[in-house]
Amino acid sequence: MTGRGRSAYVWAGSRLLLVALTLSGCRGPQPTVGLPAKYTLENEHLTVQSDVKLPRNHELIRDLGHLREEILSILDLPVQKQPVVVYLFADENRYSQYLHTRYPMLPPRRAYFVGSAKELAVYTYWGDRIQEDLRHEFTHGVLHATLKDVPLWLDEGLAEYFEVTSQPAGMNRDYAMNLAAGIASGWKPDLDRLESLEAVDQMQKADYQESWAWVHFLLNHNEDSHAVLTGYLRELRTTSQPGKLSTRLRASIPVADSRFLNYAAGLTDGLIRVGRIEAK
Ligand SMILES: [Zn+2]
Repeated sequence: MTGRGRSAYVWAGSRLLLVALTLSGCRGPQPTVGLPAKYTLENEHLTVQSDVKLPRNHELIRDLGHLREEILSILDLPVQKQPVVVYLFADENRYSQYLHTRYPMLPPRRAYFVGSAKELAVYTYWGDRIQEDLRHEFTHGVLHATLKDVPLWLDEGLAEYFEVTSQPAGMNRDYAMNLAAGIASGWKPDLDRLESLEAVDQMQKADYQESWAWVHFLLNHNEDSHAVLTGYLRELRTTSQPGKLSTRLRASIPVADSRFLNYAAGLTDGLIRVGRIEAK
């Protein structure tokens, strides 16, 4: 997998499904490698079909359970009705063969989320970054199980935020460092541009990074920014077209863009302090 093979760059479910079905059609080639089916773990909110035997209380399964509760609590979302189905292949080879045959136009990625009316499916394989990949895709699943739709930038920003396992919560150190360096060199955020992106192939690495930072800001800046996000998500429960989040954000915090710039520039402050403490 190349450096761009992170699960962060996968396509959001409904958009991916639309493309995939259009390309492969109902009478498309049948995968020579079938879906994982040896083992099934099932609870109310999650089904794992796997070629790898996992005990019911495996750390990864428990982690997804905790993550689901965390997402619902932080984002003030209701318990989802539809379970997320994880298809966990034993190795990259079988996973790639299946994906290539089923969705031939998709570029290679370590994991995919495919959402449809029938199923909220995550496809991935047992690899070194399985936990991060599962958390990212599972976040898409939880969002799409409760919301009519999610704007692309927000979908990916939230998945990037919740995939992080280290502390502080949601902190992607590479992104924080990149943003600080970019801001020092004159980079300017542009939420309106992010909101105009509709197809995943329009989104570059820097867009995932900025989307993550806006989500970090919305969740952690202050009560008003948090309320803008949760209020927006509440509307997405009943409508797929609630308008732009940026309009609400600037109505609530008129200087939101400059606040965000300062916030993003300061994301590394805590990381440097942690480093100093650890060095003692
Ligand atoms: Zn994603």
